[in-house]
Amino acid sequence: MSRLVLLLGDQLSRSISALEGFDPARDRILMAEVASEATYVRHHKQKLVMVFAAMRHFAESLRAEGLAVEYWRIEDPGNPGSLDAALRLAVDWHRPEAVILTEPGEWRVLEMMRDWAETLGPPVEIRPDTRFFARIEDFARWAEGRKTYRMEFFYREMRRKTGLLMEGEQPVGGQWNFDAENRKSLPAGHHLPERLRFPPDALTREVMAVVEARFGGHFGSLDGFGWPVTRDQALEALDHFIADALPWFGDYQDAMKRGEDFVHHALLAPALNMGLLLPEEICRAAERAWFEGRAPLNAVEGFIRQILGWREYVRGLYWLEMPGYAETNALAAHRPLPDFYWTGRTDLRCLAEVVQATARNAYAHHIQRLMVTGNFALLAGIAPKAVEEWYLLVYADAYEWVELPNTHGMALFADGGLLASKPYAASGAYIDRMSDYCTGCHYDPGVKSGPKACPFNYLYWNFLIANEKRLSGNPRMAMPYRTLAKMAPARKAEIVAEANAFLDSLPAAQ
Ligand SMILES: Cc1cc2nc3c(=O)[nH]c(=O)nc-3n(C[C@H](O)[C@H](O)[C@H](O)COP(=O)(O)OP(=O)(O)OC[C@H]3O[C@@H](n4cnc5c(N)ncnc54)[C@H](O)[C@@H]3O)c2cc1C
Ligand code: SF4
Repeated sequence: MSRLVLLLGDQLSRSISALEGFDPARDRILMAEVASEATYVRHHKQKLVMVFAAMRHFAESLRAEGLAVEYWRIEDPGNPGSLDAALRLAVDWHRPEAVILTEPGEWRVLEMMRDWAETLGPPVEIRPDTRFFARIEDFARWAEGRKTYRMEFFYREMRRKTGLLMEGEQPVGGQWNFDAENRKSLPAGHHLPERLRFPPDALTREVMAVVEARFGGHFGSLDGFGWPVTRDQALEALDHFIADALPWFGDYQDAMKRGEDFVHHALLAPALNMGLLLPEEICRAAERAWFEGRAPLNAVEGFIRQILGWREYVRGLYWLEMPGYAETNALAAHRPLPDFYWTGRTDLRCLAEVVQATARNAYAHHIQRLMVTGNFALLAGIAPKAVEEWYLLVYADAYEWVELPNTHGMALFADGGLLASKPYAASGAYIDRMSDYCTGCHYDPGVKSGPKACPFNYLYWNFLIANEKRLSGNPRMAMPYRTLAKMAPARKAEIVAEANAFLDSLPAAQ
């Protein structure tokens, strides 16, 4: 029987389930760079280069193995323009007896696949994506009967299931979670490692030229592009992280520093989410570093929790709650996205730093995403859909299954607390404690009101006032609401007026 296997841009793993049982004598693979996927949000140029270059390198490696790959480059004359058109064309040409797919990372694409199953002609088999630790059904079973889901409990189940950092039934070191040790700011003079970047080869440079020519108006810059685009490079990046950054990952996981875009973070999510690395091999490499005394437990546990815990948890939640999940707006947030999310031009130093780093690298680390751009969007009441589009568009690792729960649930609390037990809302004091951004800012994090006041300060209290009915019953919000209750009505009115004047003065994005 001849089969046609469609591989998507985030399915670049040799072990992808769609390739199981592939018969090189009869079967063929279809890969297509298409405008509809490149522009449904106007992805950062580095994301487009990364995906197209990695697809081209992956197709070459498959061909080198003797597998038949039909490949559409974005610039090919007659490029079908969409996955749907590319697949229908290939089915017409080759008349396969079956079409084989691996489930996608996006609800929108799953719907397309379901439509193919009904309308394409040959039988369509959609296989589970076995690259994750938990199947979608495993998470659904775990979630059944729970009113809210908490990552920590899911994570413990995953530790037990995989045996990662376990001694029998007990966690190594006698604790499941070392997060309390992982909130240090960077001490003066702390050495940060030089990060491994990969100079683009001829094939990648070719893609860069095409992307600049066709998608030049998209966000971000291609200067200094250095993301891994092959499996070998991704493995090198993993080794580099384990040796040079992991030992300090825990201590300084939440720290931010001006001009230091990467601190001790892994920079692995873009390669991981495309399939160039597998989550299990990353976690085992980190675990080995602890066993061999090359990294402390707080770093290794903290790192493994991100992949075995958070990454699997947000995926499970996404598939359990979609499509309705994207439509909720629990805090009734409706303001437009301010223009500085695109330009980086603002007096708020922290926001300028993070947006400019994002344009430079298609990357910002977790605390920058959550506590600077995310925190601001939450406090300012920006419409979830606008914020989500921004996050899906600007990061090299952004795929909807992981971007949406992080933005909608974790950063914006738009799901009303399904993912997080309380909103991650913070005033300027938090950013001041965890970064050096406030030094040299036009505003002062110690000032609460007036022209020098850090806007995060009055926006924080304004957020609590605006959402009092929705949030004051949350036990984890009891402390700030007790403080708010002691505030004089005149002071509250002053905060609301100052916050609204500031928000109304922000130019909206075009
Ligand atoms: C608003 C917002 C949007 C986000 N959007 C994305 C996204 O589109 N794609 C994405 O992969 N991550 C997203 N994250 C999670 C996290 O910020 C990134 O995974 C991380 O910054 C990637 O950089 P790194 O590889 O250096 O990660 P590190 O900080 O070194 O962490 C190691 C790995 O853990 C995983 N991880 C860490 N935190 C999370 C998390 N909260 N959810 C899922 N996986 C996690 C990633 O695979 C990451 O590579 C988002 C977080 C927030 C707050
Ligand atoms: S003072 Fe406020 S706006 Fe300025 S960098 Fe600090 S937190 Fe950001």
